[in-house]
Amino acid sequence: MMEDNKIFDEQQVMQMALDISGSHVMCLDLVHDRVYDIHGEAMFKTNVGLEECFTYVHPDDLDAFRQLFQRLINGTAKEDECRFRWNFNRDGDTPDWHDMYGYAIAEYEDGKPINIFSTLTDETETIRKENRIKRISERYHSIFENSVIGQSFYTPDGWLVDANRIMRKICNFDSDNNDEFFSKINLFDISPFNEVLNRYHPEDYWACSLSIIPERNMHVYLEISVHPIYNADGKLLYISVTASDVTEERNMYLSVRQNDVDMQRISNAIRTYEYELGILMQFCQMQAFRISLDRDVIEFYSGLNTVVRSFNLKQMQKIFVDQENEFVKSLGLSTLSQTLSHPIVYVGQMHPVVTQSTTELQWVHINCIPEFDDEGRLLGAFGVWRNINDVMHKQDLLRRETQRAQESGQLKTLFLANMTHEIRTPINAIVGFAELLSSLPPSDDRNEVIKIIKNNCDMLLRLVDDILTASSLESGSMKIKPVDVDFSRTFNELFESLRPRVQEIGVEFISDNPYPSFPINVDADRVSQVIINFVTNAVKYTTQGHIKLGYRSEARTVDGQQHDGLYVYCEDTGSGIPVEAQDKIFERFFKVNDFVQGTGLGLSICKAFADASHGDIGLISDGEGHGSTFWLWIPL
Ligand code: ADP
Repeated sequence: MMEDNKIFDEQQVMQMALDISGSHVMCLDLVHDRVYDIHGEAMFKTNVGLEECFTYVHPDDLDAFRQLFQRLINGTAKEDECRFRWNFNRDGDTPDWHDMYGYAIAEYEDGKPINIFSTLTDETETIRKENRIKRISERYHSIFENSVIGQSFYTPDGWLVDANRIMRKICNFDSDNNDEFFSKINLFDISPFNEVLNRYHPEDYWACSLSIIPERNMHVYLEISVHPIYNADGKLLYISVTASDVTEERNMYLSVRQNDVDMQRISNAIRTYEYELGILMQFCQMQAFRISLDRDVIEFYSGLNTVVRSFNLKQMQKIFVDQENEFVKSLGLSTLSQTLSHPIVYVGQMHPVVTQSTTELQWVHINCIPEFDDEGRLLGAFGVWRNINDVMHKQDLLRRETQRAQESGQLKTLFLANMTHEIRTPINAIVGFAELLSSLPPSDDRNEVIKIIKNNCDMLLRLVDDILTASSLESGSMKIKPVDVDFSRTFNELFESLRPRVQEIGVEFISDNPYPSFPINVDADRVSQVIINFVTNAVKYTTQGHIKLGYRSEARTVDGQQHDGLYVYCEDTGSGIPVEAQDKIFERFFKVNDFVQGTGLGLSICKAFADASHGDIGLISDGEGHGSTFWLWIPL
């Protein structure tokens, strides 16, 4: 009973175990050529023969199945592992393959195999799952491996688990070569992390740093991110480290930045040059301009870029004074392109349209250079336009001065020739009459001779005086020595002293002294010298009528200010001065008639005095034959 119970129990337990594991048990009865399910029904449902059983096996696995079968029959193996695909759908066209894994055992009787038992489990689902996991993990690994940034994983302790291709490249190692470097170096010992990463509770961490590991021949700028991976329970599983080599980008960025700095420097320098050029051009009264044929326009710039005025070319033509100039003419013609295709230099006058501060005509100097495009087509011209008014005025002044100097030189030569005659005449008279005097007894005649000698001595003295004064003026300006005088008295005395000379030629000598007394502060000697000069000249050139000498107090405006002054004049009814000679009469050595006695210095000395006193001197004459009035005004 106990035995039976035990058997029953064993069978029951086995049945339960087979049920729990989902296993099939089949028996291949070799004696009766039958194959049937012992446990589970899915494989056969009904008994089949051995050959039919083979048709249930996947054709690819059939050889292996038969070989296993043979091994068990011929005793090479008593039991063996078996693995094959089994068709569960024998009724339909589409087979339903299941992966059956298990063991087969052969049963012998009298040394002969009679049965083969096989316990099989349907592993189809498990294998499918495994395959799926394998495929997913392969896919992820491929993504990981082929990522464009370097990726690596470390254990919570900081030991490298895996690094992708880019990471291996960045770190200069290849896992295929069994590089042991990273197996010896811990993440927490690598310089960028060793002080910032918490080994026990790492957090996300980003950095961009220069990574230098000489042993790895590494010298790169890396953008690094560290990301710890925790599971749902907060347990640290891995530490992911990604890195991208930004050395190239950084170098590019640096070179772009350097370019920016260079550009900035260049543009600053250009701005400075432009500014300086603008100032220089302004200082030199220059303006840049550009002629554009396409737009039929000429534009004037302030500095280099700012257009301050523009005209169309026809308008422009009218600005020039010399309408016959080839360049000016072409501005209104179709031949302009021809003219503009060569450099042009123009010097001439124009109306003040560009420089608007004045209405006077302007002298300009224009340099114009043609401008072509890449194909050699004429676009127009550009150049500079310079106001040369000052230069032209100075040139004019220089020309006049040169002419004056030349004339003065000629006059000096003439003067020297005259002097021989001028000096010899009175000296001859003095010597001749002195000899005569020695032979004469005291008488009226003798007195007359003495008078002639005296007159000639006076003349000689005046001549020498004039020459000395004139030459002293050449080396500097005249010194003025004013003194307090009653000019009414001085005038009367002078008038009386001059009377004999006028009486001698038989013309009326008139005094115009308006004041009984006229106290002033003046260089009386110089004023007297001027008056003597005026009267001496009047005597020389007047043969009839009168000579009138006078003065008065007269206020005049000098440099916008009213000044009291002394006005003296000498009016005669003599030969007068030809109109064309009037503006030269006060120049040195100038004489209307070279054959009349005189040096041509007297009036120029008078003018020098007027200038030195900030006064004025002048002549009023209606021309030859109409007499003349010489006047002097000096401020007091
Ligand atoms: P000069 O010694 O030759 O008289 P001035 O300088 O005094 O020198 O005069 C210059 C010239 O001006 C004279 O040579 C003369 O031709 C002319 N002139 C000066 N005063 C008179 C005058 N009152 N009437 C006519 N001509 C005059």
